[in-house]
Amino acid sequence: MDELYKKNLRELLNLLDKNEVSPEEIYSIFLNRIDKEEKKINAFITKEEKLIYNKNGYIKGIPIAIKDNIITKGIKTTCASKFLENFVPPYDATAVKRLKNAGFSIIGKTNLDEFAMGSSTENSAFFTTKNPWNLERVPGGSSGGSSAAVASLEVPVALGSDTGGSVRQPAAFCGVYGLKPTYGRISRFGLVAFASSLDQIGIFARNPEDIAIVLEIIAGKDPKDATSSEKGTEKYSDFYEINPKNIKIAVLKVPEKSLSFEIKNAYRKFISFFEKNGFILEEVNIDLWEYGLYVYYIIASSEASANLARYDGVRYGRRAKAKNIGELYLKSRSEGFGDEVKRRILLGTFSLSSGFYDEYYMKAVKVRNKIAFEIKSIFESFDYLILPTTPETAFQIGEKSDDPISMYYSDYFTIPPSLGGFPAISVPFQIGEKSKLPIGFQIVSNYFNERNLLSLAYFYENEIKFENKIIRRF
Ligand code: GLN
Repeated sequence: MDELYKKNLRELLNLLDKNEVSPEEIYSIFLNRIDKEEKKINAFITKEEKLIYNKNGYIKGIPIAIKDNIITKGIKTTCASKFLENFVPPYDATAVKRLKNAGFSIIGKTNLDEFAMGSSTENSAFFTTKNPWNLERVPGGSSGGSSAAVASLEVPVALGSDTGGSVRQPAAFCGVYGLKPTYGRISRFGLVAFASSLDQIGIFARNPEDIAIVLEIIAGKDPKDATSSEKGTEKYSDFYEINPKNIKIAVLKVPEKSLSFEIKNAYRKFISFFEKNGFILEEVNIDLWEYGLYVYYIIASSEASANLARYDGVRYGRRAKAKNIGELYLKSRSEGFGDEVKRRILLGTFSLSSGFYDEYYMKAVKVRNKIAFEIKSIFESFDYLILPTTPETAFQIGEKSDDPISMYYSDYFTIPPSLGGFPAISVPFQIGEKSKLPIGFQIVSNYFNERNLLSLAYFYENEIKFENKIIRRF
């Protein structure tokens, strides 16, 4: 039973159903696991020592980790920012509330780049999380704490958030599955706003079935979030049978120079996996893809500058000692925010200022719509789109911290689906021969096709069996 932390969500549920193990045993085994792994990994900002769960829920207390920008009643929620270092929310995010109702216990809050701005967790005001496959490497970001926690078997499942790639990129870097659902599929109520037209809660697990189980609990309309969709949810873990000869997959044509040598080779093998299994494949080009990154940094920063205006030292969080109100704003913000957050606020304020609004923000919005349209038109003739998740494998800690632009390139492949609001999953494929680091790829589908998307991922995992690779490391 000591090795219970190797069991995934579905297996734990089965053991609980047969009364072979108690919720208390499970919780204490995961707490021990966290204590042991945290000496190396540093995935958690806050840990909950006590098992608290709804005894009427069918999940029976199985632990889950929550990214620390998703608010949890009575549990500190910091956004990895000095500004919110001591903020204890008085209510739960809708996703958290639904998890709790179903019987999940919150075992801790995970590290991130401050306010989810970044690709490595190095922008956390507190510490950097390590990649479980190589402790000198970043776990990706901004949900790096959640992906590392799942990859090091500290928890079976975790929530993250994805604005431009923050679930998929860390999932690829840490060799786990990471789903970003359709925009509007999961309520954003209680997800601390970064760029509201892009933000979406996502899910990490070691296999697609566990993701589906969590998704069916948290998805669906929420009166507290006007952008959450009215569209009915599905039993996502009830997978469709995949019949390859009836399935058409678009393969994104990628400029060779945009991929590292290792990922380029892996991409060919990833494509041949689908060929060998009899799927119908065709290469496609998305002309405006390369503009996605530029457009994203204008739109996301603009929205961030508006959203983060609420942190002024008066209403929320940190309040600096000051002689007058001007100084209060200035000092609270300059002490409370890290460099990357300041950079985004400045960039966004600039793009929205009169005289530049038309030139930058409005233009970016137009290009965004065109990108969305281009991707949408692919789904008129194809069921899925496949492409890389990241241009390279996990980079060294410190390697890009002084070069924000090269850091931004991490999201080259994840941003366009976000701009369009499409659901996308990063699936682990193999361990790089040279780097010994995980390599992941993305599967994207049309709006609200999560059940199809997860069904294909489930088919894939049954063939690839990547979960065994994760478990065998320990
Ligand atoms: N890395 C991207 C950024 O820094 C994406 C972040 C995210 O998805 N939260 O904005």
